[in-house]
Amino acid sequence: MTSTKAHCNQCSGDRNHTVLHVEETRWNNDEACISGGDKYEMLKCMGCDNIALRHTSWNSEDDKRPVNYFPPAIFRPTPAWFADLRFDLSAQDIVVEPLLREIYVALQNNQPRLAAIGIRSLLENVMIAKTTDQGTFGKNIAEFERLGYVSKVQRERLETIIEAGHAVTHRAFLPSNEDVIALVNIAEHIIESVYLHETKIDDLKSRVPPKKTPPRG
Ligand SMILES: [Zn+2]
Repeated sequence: MTSTKAHCNQCSGDRNHTVLHVEETRWNNDEACISGGDKYEMLKCMGCDNIALRHTSWNSEDDKRPVNYFPPAIFRPTPAWFADLRFDLSAQDIVVEPLLREIYVALQNNQPRLAAIGIRSLLENVMIAKTTDQGTFGKNIAEFERLGYVSKVQRERLETIIEAGHAVTHRAFLPSNEDVIALVNIAEHIIESVYLHETKIDDLKSRVPPKKTPPRG
């Protein structure tokens, strides 16, 4: 059996894979004198035994050979706390977990515009849930800061995220992968401090024995 270097989601990077099976198709357009084809490879990671399908397409007019994986290659690992997030959400925040999941799917499938719009929507949901909608974005963000959910520096980052989402929707802005990763990092940081830290601190508070009042006399 032959082997090849390919992306492994489990190992989070390029690893040697055994090629289990290959199917190739080819097409020709004689009139236009162009040709192309598709290659499908069933791969097994030599490190962790993970299985994936790699699809490579080509045509005689383009030097690029787009490569896609099924399941999609994971662009960026999800944070360790993601699996626990749903248990830390109240009824009014419940949308946070599925929305964040959709953002990761957009990232994995190279859809930076959808990811940026999703991040904006996610953070607006978080702010509305915590501030009881003040009517405008400016008022919500000010209230979010006043309640102590974000610092002044984080508030400015939040404004940048919202602005990027707005520019995608209204000004045909195409964020780069690096831009989207920066936005996701900030969004994750805010979600972690708003929900997960809050739960952990409440839990710690309930376990710390109260101070004993010294006996009088
Ligand atoms: Zn692997």
